[in-house]
Amino acid sequence: MLFQSTSSPPCLCGSFNSLIKFVTAEVIIIKTLRHSRLAILTVLIVIVLTIALVFKLTNSGTQSGSLFSSGELSINPSKVTVRKGPGLDYSKVKVTKTFQSQILQKRNGWLKVRLANNKTAWVPSWQAENKVAKTAATKLSNATIVIDAGHGGNDSGALYDESETSSYYMEKNYTLKLAKLVAKELRARGARVILTRDNDRYVDLKSRPETAESIHADAFISFHFDSSPYANEGTGVTTYYYHKGNNSKKLASAINSQFNNLPLRNNGVDFSDFLVLHDNTRPAILCEMGYINTDQDFKQITSSTYRTKVAKDIVNGLDKYFKEVN
Ligand SMILES: [Zn+2]
Repeated sequence: MLFQSTSSPPCLCGSFNSLIKFVTAEVIIIKTLRHSRLAILTVLIVIVLTIALVFKLTNSGTQSGSLFSSGELSINPSKVTVRKGPGLDYSKVKVTKTFQSQILQKRNGWLKVRLANNKTAWVPSWQAENKVAKTAATKLSNATIVIDAGHGGNDSGALYDESETSSYYMEKNYTLKLAKLVAKELRARGARVILTRDNDRYVDLKSRPETAESIHADAFISFHFDSSPYANEGTGVTTYYYHKGNNSKKLASAINSQFNNLPLRNNGVDFSDFLVLHDNTRPAILCEMGYINTDQDFKQITSSTYRTKVAKDIVNGLDKYFKEVN
């Protein structure tokens, strides 16, 4: 109607000015109407898109622990451990209800998320992204290995000499150095490595095998150094396993067979009921890499050349192991 009137303007007015005013008013009304139609159309499109998005998010959110396509996570605290920082060393954050969060940051296999109380925390990607039930690795480059540096923090482990108080003489110092080097070598080969500790801190004995369990590790290797009741009584390296039915013995043999190039005697493979092996259903071994209270062994234990040799042996041993079991 209004459009029609513009195409055939009325000539009822007496003056030209009135005609101009009328036409101007018509144009404003037409523009307003065009704008409001555009606005209505825009609002409709937004509503349809919002409904579609909400529907999509609601559906994907029902599967707990799964990644949203938008980069958002649904985190179920009964399946995912929430921690203060990006590592197993950081303390746990108590979360009771499933919550949703955008992934704020990614670091070393950990995802930074925002909790319901607006604070931030970290979750392991292998749990949060529902990759727990992964298939067993077929080779080192797709394996998940847990490396356990014995002792730590106020647990010094064995000592070179009971009267020494410097960490230079403490077992915990050398298990950590060795564990970090082994982790570095394994990562260079493509393996995913989780350290039960990567600094000098106390880690509960029970939580060490739990780490291997929670991520279905393909191998768990714990490093220690022996000691004898009196100084200079023992020497050499020994590789321990506990469970027989889960490839632990095969893992122990494959790795121990590499130790013949070391400057210390190879005492072979042995069975022992260590808690970190006993509580572990994953292939798990404990390597005693020399006697800390024996002079000739201590000289090797403190040497970076020795550690480099051990690290290479571990890599080669794991390589051999994966070939044997696949
Ligand atoms: Zn120890």
